[in-house]
Amino acid sequence: MFRIPFIAGNWKMFKNISEAKNFADEFKKLYHDTDVKVAICAPYLQLPHLVEAFKRTNIGVGAQNVHFEKEGAFTGEISIPMLEDIGVQYCIVGHSERRQLFNETDETVNKKIKALLETEIIPIVCVGEDLYQREHNYQNQLVSEQVKNALDSIPKEQAAKIVFAYEPIWAIGTGRTATPIQANQMCELIRETIIELYDEETADQVIIQYGGSVKPENATDIMNMEEIDGALVGGASLNPLNFIEIVNF
Ligand code: 13P
Repeated sequence: MFRIPFIAGNWKMFKNISEAKNFADEFKKLYHDTDVKVAICAPYLQLPHLVEAFKRTNIGVGAQNVHFEKEGAFTGEISIPMLEDIGVQYCIVGHSERRQLFNETDETVNKKIKALLETEIIPIVCVGEDLYQREHNYQNQLVSEQVKNALDSIPKEQAAKIVFAYEPIWAIGTGRTATPIQANQMCELIRETIIELYDEETADQVIIQYGGSVKPENATDIMNMEEIDGALVGGASLNPLNFIEIVNF
């Protein structure tokens, strides 16, 4: 089944506005239209600048989190209408750093996905086990539960639009990558879970990325795996030369 590959960078809490603009200038020089979808998920303040810098290109821009309510007394939060106003195309939901450090739960992940699916902004939903869970062979149960909870009461036409990212926590920022076979197995499990919930046609449309120490050196092997449709790249997306090498895997 052919799906258009999708490589997204997740800058996390890195780069100020001028650094983001410099990245965009450099990256635009290196980037040539390919059959690969590309996006940068940046801190909120940098988003309007990146949208501006990447307009008239096929390089997308995403946020790293959002609140599920449209507006209200939620000090410090950013709403989906605010992201729409800027022209953001993607939003990461449920990154493990948010689950571990900022009380993100399967329930809030589900609410955020549902709210995003009411708009044109595509959710990039992160799932993945930690080292303890992997060592106790609990990863399949955990990840399939995360996927089921994320998709709770979401109709299938909407589910098909979601991007999933399998990000084993033990491989994030550690330099320790899942082997392409391990990553492929987990992406396959995610797709099987979607078949179980909906049907094969829906699962065939869903883009599933791998994330966790993706680098220019390992991108080709990862991207060549049957069930892996893309990558969510942390550290290596901060440097335009590294990121373009991954995009051109
Ligand atoms: P690294 O590529 O730095 O391991 O980060 C992965 C990640 O968390 C992307 O969301």
